[in-house]
Order: sequence, then C-alpha cells, then structure tokens
Amino acid sequence: MQNSEEIWRLVDAHRTVFEQLSDRIWGMPELAYAEHRSAAEHMDMLKKNGFRVTEKIAGIPTAVMGEAGAGGPVIAILGEYDALPGLSQVAGIAEKREMEPNGHGHGCGHNLLGSAALLAATAVKDYLAANGLPGRVRYYGCPAEEGGAAKGFVVRDGAMADVDIAIGWHPSAFSGVYEPVSLANTRIDFSFAGRASHAAAAPHLGRSALDAVELMNVGVNYMREHMPSDARIHYAYLDAGGIAPNVVQATAKVRYLIRARDLPELQRLIARVRKIADGAALMTETTVTTKVISAVSNLLGNAPLEQAMHANLRRLGPPPFDEADRAFARQIQATLSEEDILSSFRRAGMPYKPDISLCDEIVPADTKGAPMVGSTDIGDVSWVVPLVQARGATYAIGTPGHSWQLTAQGKMPAAHKGLVHVAKVMAGTAVDALTDPALIVRAKEDHKARTDRTPYVCPIPDDVTPPIGMSSPGG
Ligand SMILES: [Zn+2]
Repeated sequence: MQNSEEIWRLVDAHRTVFEQLSDRIWGMPELAYAEHRSAAEHMDMLKKNGFRVTEKIAGIPTAVMGEAGAGGPVIAILGEYDALPGLSQVAGIAEKREMEPNGHGHGCGHNLLGSAALLAATAVKDYLAANGLPGRVRYYGCPAEEGGAAKGFVVRDGAMADVDIAIGWHPSAFSGVYEPVSLANTRIDFSFAGRASHAAAAPHLGRSALDAVELMNVGVNYMREHMPSDARIHYAYLDAGGIAPNVVQATAKVRYLIRARDLPELQRLIARVRKIADGAALMTETTVTTKVISAVSNLLGNAPLEQAMHANLRRLGPPPFDEADRAFARQIQATLSEEDILSSFRRAGMPYKPDISLCDEIVPADTKGAPMVGSTDIGDVSWVVPLVQARGATYAIGTPGHSWQLTAQGKMPAAHKGLVHVAKVMAGTAVDALTDPALIVRAKEDHKARTDRTPYVCPIPDDVTPPIGMSSPGG
C-alpha cells in the first residue's frame, strides 16, 4: 500500500528522540503507581509534539492522555512505563550485575513499550496533518501494568468510551500479531479473626485465625483437581498472626490470586473459593472478611484488525538486526538454559531453529503458540473497544520475562531497532483504519459478535479504587 512508505518515514523522522526517551525511562525504573518521573517524561514529550494533554486520567496521578487531530474516528495507542522490583541490572553486559542493590529495573521492557507507542502516535499525528485528514489519535500513558490493573480503572472511568479502535504492543522475542490469549484474574484478601489466648495455659479459650488460613489453603488445594485445567490459583500469606508460637493467633490474612479463561469462569471459581473460606471460618470458630484488591478481564481478539496489522508486518519484514546485535544476543543466550530457548519458540508457535539468536522472520498469521497463562490489564480494554496488539522483537530468543537478562538488553541497539520497527507496525495499522473507514466498521462488527452474549461487566467492584501507593510485585 502506498500509505506505508509515508508513515514509516514519519516514524523514522522522530526515532532518535524516542530512543532517547526509552533510555531515560530505563534509567529511572519506577514501580506501579509510582511512575511519577516516567509519566512526567511522557507528558513532556506529548506537549513538545503538540498533543492536547489530559493529566491524571481516571484520577490516577501517573496516568496521562494526549490527543491530536480533529473530527473523524478516534484511534488509541496504548503505552506503559512501570518497572519491576529486584531487577536492577547494568545495561549491555551478559552477566548478572546490579546497578543498585535490590533496586528496580525494566525487566519487562516497558521503557520500550511506552516510547514506541508514543512514537507511533506522533507519526500518526504528523500523517493526519500532512494529508489534511479528519481523525484523532490518542496516546494513553497507562501506569501499573504490573499487578496494578490500571487500565481496568481507566476503562471503568469511561476514559476510552469514545475510542473507535485501540492498538498496543509488548516487547517479545518474536515479531508478529499478539495472539489474543490471556486469563482473567482477581486478587482477593481473606482476613480471618479469632481470639488470642496463651497457647499452653489456656488453649481451649483461643480460636486460631492462622488455623483458618491453613484449612482454607488445604481446601483450595483439594479443589484444584476439580477445576478447569486452564485455571490457576496462587496464594501468599500477608499476615500469619505474629511470631510468637505460644500465643493463639487472633488474626491472619492470606491473598489469593485466581485466574480463569474468561470472566464467567472466574466468577464461578471465586464463589467456590469464598465457600471454602467460609468453611474454614466455620471449622475454627473464627470470622472471615474479604476485600477485592484488583481484577482484570481476559483478552479478546479482533480478526479484521489482526489481519490489517499482519499485513503491515509482512510489508515491513522483521526488524533489521545486524551481526553485532546477533552476537550480543548469543552472549545472553549463553546465560540461559536450553529449556528457556526451546520454550520461547514454543510460546510463539515457531519451529525451533538452533542457530538464530534474534527474530529473523514474522510469525505467520494464525500461528497457535502455547497459551499465555498470565494475565494483562489490557484485557479490559479489549472488552470495550476493538483492540489489536503486536509483539515486537526487542531481545534475544529465550530471554525469560521479568529477568535480569531482559533488563540488560533494554538499551541495546537491537532494542532500539525493535522499538522503531513496532512503532511502524502500529502507526501503519492506525493509518489503515484512518484511510479505510470500512476497516473500523468490520472491527466493530467483530467486537460486537464477541461481546453480544456476555456484555462487559468490569470485574473490579465499584468500591475498589486504584491501589495508588502499592508497590507489590505482580504481572
Ligand atoms: Zn510487561
């Protein structure tokens, strides 16, 4: 298509400043909902490029939106910039070496994620202006992807209500259209209350909240055999009642993370876990209260947009990695296990090739990889607006997510090439929608068919507000 060359040129024209933006964000790793400097950098960049900026969307201090253009359809491009705890790592070396003891690091590549999305939005803005086209492009700077479910709060607030289509991406080992598979999940805290007592002198007077948590866990672990095999349940003790074994523990608290294929399945599992908690309270003569901490929906695909994005990927070809990029990627691979590398191919649905360290072809359309058993808050966006995502090759094949190896590669020339490449894919897909209204119509029909029978109900209860101030690991 003739539009491709022009939009790619517009991406290239801005590439240096956005590579620098990505490197600056890499150098100031901030955790979920605490991305104050990173959000300010993104806001600055929006203003410098002439976007109309709305701060604190959905009341979240580190969420920002910029819009450009007038009239026409609204295309949203989604970015992130949160980092992870414990993944501080010196850039550009193939050995584990922290920059700061126990410091944070961009072990999921969100420095690239936000910068490429903002670069794509900037190029689309230029395209609209250069061609005098009606249409608006928006960049949504979304905080707290890692366990914060910020996009769910943004969606619940109606901040995307008038968006026609949304486009996103995530750093990956391979370039292709993101296979829309991810699980719905929720985090719920169960707090048990009993009665303290001297454990030796008056054990009969005590009622142990810790016993209740242990019985609840036993009950849930027995339930595992009888739940869908693609569901997942994990738990962590938040409060075991204290450190004194000679006191009957009067309080105890456990956090459950429950994942399921889709929202209805999730609701059924939650109800069963709640019954087990009630049963544990009954057995121990304690009481239990619950609090939903966060929740995300499963991800819906969109066939017309996936086809459009794939066509852009095919026109563009894989990122232009060179021999120096491949050599460093091989050094990173030398720190990985054979299993890491094999499972990277398997997850992408690509046949194993022993000699390649970086992606050298586009993942074919409709490739089925191993299902992604994690969750992402972009799922909620996909329930309210047609959404498509790219996966963009930015690191060595086999690199585990949330690893020091991933942080180490975040400022390499290969990462920059991947950033620019995926910005072209996203901007090209946006231009397709802006120049062909029929694509948006088809995308909306596809979306309606997927959501007609099960309309979206935000899985985050109304009384739950963004956990600003949290800094828990997640994802
Ligand atoms: Zn991520």
